[in-house]
Amino acid sequence: MTTAATTTESDAAEPLTCWCCGGTYQEPDLVRLGNHPEVGVCLSCAHFLHQQARSREDALRPSPASRLRDGLRAGRCLVIRWRWHQHPVIGRPLRWLGRRLP
Ligand SMILES: [Zn+2]
Repeated sequence: MTTAATTTESDAAEPLTCWCCGGTYQEPDLVRLGNHPEVGVCLSCAHFLHQQARSREDALRPSPASRLRDGLRAGRCLVIRWRWHQHPVIGRPLRWLGRRLP
């Protein structure tokens, strides 16, 4: 019990690697898998995985709402492909909007 607590404290100090993008993060910036706590992904990758899961669910159960989300995802892909999210004028509002859309 004491050994596990010591290991956890020492692990919290050193940067940890995201299993998705390979970036280094501190423990509070990672999300752990429930049945495999050794696997951690950063918050950005967790959001990305959530969007991928939602896309798969929408593909399995088509509905008017899922078609609307498909359109929004297509718009997001277009913005990223043309790098409008990095534009000095419209980039900031597009990034703000992208964080709030499904
Ligand atoms: Zn990541």
